[in-house]
Amino acid sequence: MTPLRGHHLICLHFFRGEGYGPEFLENLESVIDRSKQEGIVVQNGADNICIKCPNLAGELCMYKGDNNKKIEGLDAIALRLLNLEHGAKTEWAAMERVLPQIFHEWKDEVCFKCDWLGTCKSTTRWKNLD
Ligand code: SF4
Repeated sequence: MTPLRGHHLICLHFFRGEGYGPEFLENLESVIDRSKQEGIVVQNGADNICIKCPNLAGELCMYKGDNNKKIEGLDAIALRLLNLEHGAKTEWAAMERVLPQIFHEWKDEVCFKCDWLGTCKSTTRWKNLD
């Protein structure tokens, strides 16, 4: 199974090929493929996507400085909305099914403060959910 942290369980559904460079993107696409094929196990902290992120320092997210507490806060919100916890097993398709039920709360609590909002808003999935 593919380990994913809380906010990735939601944000990956709005991925449209943009990110932090070729190595990051190649890995991200591979993780999405594996998640779809193998299933997902929920993980706290840096996951298989984070390991190729230029903002990761050790186990910590340093996006725009020390961002780790904020990112862990996003993970906690995502897991609350998805009713999942560390170690839980789930499927990509299950996340897709639950997305319409949690989208507006996620958007209002999290997305409007996110630098990727413009990218996510331009996706067909976002437009269909909004
Ligand atoms: S706008 Fe940010 S928080 Fe919202 S889905 Fe996109 S990446 Fe995730």
